[in-house]
Amino acid sequence: NLSDKLDKALHNLKGHGQITEINVAETIKEVRRALLDADVNFKIAKQFTNKVKEKALGQNVLTTLQPGQLMVKIVKDELTELMGGDAEGVNLSGTPSVVLMSGLQGSGKTTFSGKLANFLKTKKTKKPLLVACDVYRPAAVDQLHVVGDQISVDVYSDKGNTDPVAIAQAGIAHAKANGHNIVIIDTAGRLAVDEAMMTEISNIHKAIQPQETLFVVDAMTGQDAVNTAKAFNDVLDFDGVILTKLDGDTRGGAAISIKSVVNKPIKFIGTGEKMDAIDVFYPNRMADRILGMGDVVSLVERAQEQYDEEEARKLQKKIAKNQFGFDDFLSQIQQIKKMGSMKDLLGMIPGAGKALKGIDIDDDAFKHVEAIIHSMTPGERSTPSTINASRKKRIAKGSGRTVQEVNQLMKQFDQMSKMMKMMQGGGGRQMMNMMNK
Ligand code: GDP
Ligand code: MG
Repeated sequence: NLSDKLDKALHNLKGHGQITEINVAETIKEVRRALLDADVNFKIAKQFTNKVKEKALGQNVLTTLQPGQLMVKIVKDELTELMGGDAEGVNLSGTPSVVLMSGLQGSGKTTFSGKLANFLKTKKTKKPLLVACDVYRPAAVDQLHVVGDQISVDVYSDKGNTDPVAIAQAGIAHAKANGHNIVIIDTAGRLAVDEAMMTEISNIHKAIQPQETLFVVDAMTGQDAVNTAKAFNDVLDFDGVILTKLDGDTRGGAAISIKSVVNKPIKFIGTGEKMDAIDVFYPNRMADRILGMGDVVSLVERAQEQYDEEEARKLQKKIAKNQFGFDDFLSQIQQIKKMGSMKDLLGMIPGAGKALKGIDIDDDAFKHVEAIIHSMTPGERSTPSTINASRKKRIAKGSGRTVQEVNQLMKQFDQMSKMMKMMQGGGGRQMMNMMNK
């Protein structure tokens, strides 16, 4: 993928103590090839690398102590700028604010409509309404209702009606009458750009004059995404791009091309099928990701969001009273799992992305540990010290694991308990200091 290719390209420089005009040119060639391989438009890749080259040679890289790092920084900064400066929000200035979704069939419009409603509802105390304007497939209306139910957001639909413009208008009227301050209009798409689809979305757009028109695109569609984006932008002059399905292997390529061709900000990314798999698009983080530096900021934010503070407080009490047992250990594992799939999370740690290649770590990574704990009696879980050799044998048998594995888990548990005890007491600060050194 692009990340690996750039890694390789930049590797040339990382090792070198000095940047000469020759190895700048060499690296630039590699970077360009990497971008092309990732389906970045040829012209854009060329523009990009020319700019990087100019900067690298202009910034007196030869005189700096670590020219390789400076070069990486230049590539990263350029990539960040190319993908769009600062993160931009959604225009919510209307009463109600109307958001129109556009894009091909299967790009993720309906899913993203739900994600956005959920996002605005929880983060900005808004009261959204979803409006179902896909009149071609009855299942599409049902799908939006299912989404609405999942996130407890009202859905307006009119199944007999075949006029999407009329439904959109009625939906907005419904929102006004019922105190909704955001209206998200989900529309129909087709498998490829055609006249009928463009006329329809354009008619809806003209009739309702949304505050925000979003173009939803599947990040996995590569070079095609550029053409589709251009076609929609020509007709709608949309305000922003939503890049979906970034949870797969695809990273970045589409973001770079689309942004350059239509010059519209990418506002959100979709990272999964679930309603909370939405992230604000940060160009600098995306650049990090593309360059394989990891997205540590996102990781930390996600962890904070998901970690249940109430649980944490209860746990602290238990630790203080020396009552920490295997049931708590189990709930800790559940907490970690809540943060998202392991591979997802680990992929955000710098360097880990590469190390994990070819290794299949999934949510089942804890399966064995869980099996062992489940084979313990409640008494054994709350008082692990009672687990003697014969009990270990029984637990191993019950869980289908070996006694060594049970032993290993006991040891890990012991260490974890000790560490937590230490963090609790005055040792906490001492330990943090130690780790910071
Ligand atoms: P629409 O035809 O544009 O309304 O697309 P849908 O919202 O129905 O999505 C099409 C398919 O893509 C569905 O199976 C969704 O679950 C899936 N999908 C949508 N967004 C994402 C995403 O960010 N990641 C993944 N993995 N799947 C997604
Ligand atoms: Mg749909």
